[in-house]
Amino acid sequence: MAMKAGWQFADWDLNVDTSASGSIYQHQCMTCGEKSGVAATAEGPDVWCLRHAGLTGHTDFRGAVTTFFRASLAEGSR
Ligand SMILES: [Zn+2]
Repeated sequence: MAMKAGWQFADWDLNVDTSASGSIYQHQCMTCGEKSGVAATAEGPDVWCLRHAGLTGHTDFRGAVTTFFRASLAEGSR
């Protein structure tokens, strides 16, 4: 007896979604794990790193940029 399976595929598009927020930036100290605040540009977190370095002597940081996306069915796939 043969097995039969049906799959239906649709084309999806993925686009940056800025309806709620643009990209957000946050930096973190690699030594103690403390994090900057979240900001709409990297400038605030950059200044936080410099201030944190001055206060603690910690010199290694990482930065994360979070961008929001929304998937939608491509035209003609509905
Ligand atoms: Zn630190």
